[in-house]
Amino acid sequence: MAFKSINPYNNKELASFPEHSTSEQEAMLKKADKTFAEWRTWSFADRAKVLNKAAALLLENLEKYAETISLEMGKPISESRAEVKKCAWVCEYYAENAETFLSPKSISTDAHESYVTYEPMGAILAIMPWNFPFWQVFRFAAPTLMAGNVGLLKHASNVLGSAKHIADIFLEAGAPEGAFQHLLVSHGSIETLLENDIVKAVTLTGSEKAGASVASLAGKNIKKSLLELGGSNAFVVLEDADIDKAIEIGVKARFMNTGQSCIAAKRFIVVEKVYDKFVEGFVKKVKALKSGDPMSDSSEIGVLAREDLADILAEQVDKSVEMGAKVLIGQKQKGAYYEPTVLTDISADMPVFKEETFGPVTPIIKVKDVKEAFEVAANTEFGLGISVFTQDLNQVKKYINLVPDGAFFVNDLVKSDPRLPFGGTKKSGYGRELSRDGMMEFVNVKTVYIQ
Ligand code: NAP
Repeated sequence: MAFKSINPYNNKELASFPEHSTSEQEAMLKKADKTFAEWRTWSFADRAKVLNKAAALLLENLEKYAETISLEMGKPISESRAEVKKCAWVCEYYAENAETFLSPKSISTDAHESYVTYEPMGAILAIMPWNFPFWQVFRFAAPTLMAGNVGLLKHASNVLGSAKHIADIFLEAGAPEGAFQHLLVSHGSIETLLENDIVKAVTLTGSEKAGASVASLAGKNIKKSLLELGGSNAFVVLEDADIDKAIEIGVKARFMNTGQSCIAAKRFIVVEKVYDKFVEGFVKKVKALKSGDPMSDSSEIGVLAREDLADILAEQVDKSVEMGAKVLIGQKQKGAYYEPTVLTDISADMPVFKEETFGPVTPIIKVKDVKEAFEVAANTEFGLGISVFTQDLNQVKKYINLVPDGAFFVNDLVKSDPRLPFGGTKKSGYGRELSRDGMMEFVNVKTVYIQ
């Protein structure tokens, strides 16, 4: 069997990748194990050289990588360039900080000497999605490799050109063969991979269904798992908010990556006193968004990564409209393109409220006051993050520990940053990526006690 990369903008085939056979997969696992024994002995400084070189290669070849991203999954080229730059940042960040994060910690006890070390675990399997085909992989790979682990990537089957670039980058940067490999396998092979002793842990970024399946396979094999799943972040606008700023950031928070981001704002909750002003300004800005060829510099909205994803989104919107949602703009689909859409008159049982909408669709909900705003925001199975727009920081801070999400942003969109932990609660998954916390997920925290 071969996997095909297809440009969702024009349905043209870009490349075809033959699947790795079982014996090829086994050989790759053996190579990973062998390389681990060597790679873990490299000093942090030597591993940092590889990561810094990877960052340099990303920047030198920015255009080539950005083109592959946009061609394979349809996001506007300007956003693909930004994604590649962010990957360089995360490589540099861990190159600089890993040694500090993982240096042994002395703890005084009754022992003559006691301390904690943070040691690599071995081969870590990463199952990744297509929506940020470079960033999702680099945010796993940079801390994992710097910790002395080796990486095995099973990328989404529609972005295997991106996967190949990434594996080539680490090789060219000087990582030993086997430190980072990408497996050309369907998700049906994950069970066998997780049963193999060489694979020590697994991380998955993707849908709830994939997460549940991988977590149960990991559990069966007593292996650690980390899940970064879907989200339905609330974007709350309170009556004292700077409305122009809320509109500007709100449009970005919803329509970036053509709406295909786990941390995108997906439920807009606006207090009635400022509702009309917000909705009017928001719709005006959405109307001005330029849809077009993802490869064009001026496009702000591309196409969804596959036509079936646009079909799912259309079904969620159409069903919500049948249930009483009002369309202010949008609701048109053409192939993988879905027009930026704004809906009002939303109730909590509609698909656009209850489910994750992975595309350019904005439901706006009117609420009485701040109390109701947080109640509506909490009415979700997901828990990635929330954005609140207000000038009353004392009031908003009282809500921080009442919101069970993984992130609470005030006057900005929820975004990932190498310096800050990233991850969710509830059906958005568990565990953290990025920062020191993320690096701790795949290390053996070892207690040393010397009497
Ligand atoms: P997906 O269908 O779950 O695919 C993600 C990865 O999981 C792919 O490599 C896929 O492989 C694999 N996969 C699919 N079904 C599987 C199964 N039953 N068992 C094991 N692996 C399986 O998700 P997607 O459509 O690519 O991505 C969109 C979802 O990811 C959204 O829900 C989004 O919110 C979430 N996401 C979360 C984050 C986060 O950080 N929390 C970030 C980005 C995206 P194949 O391609 O071979 O099917």
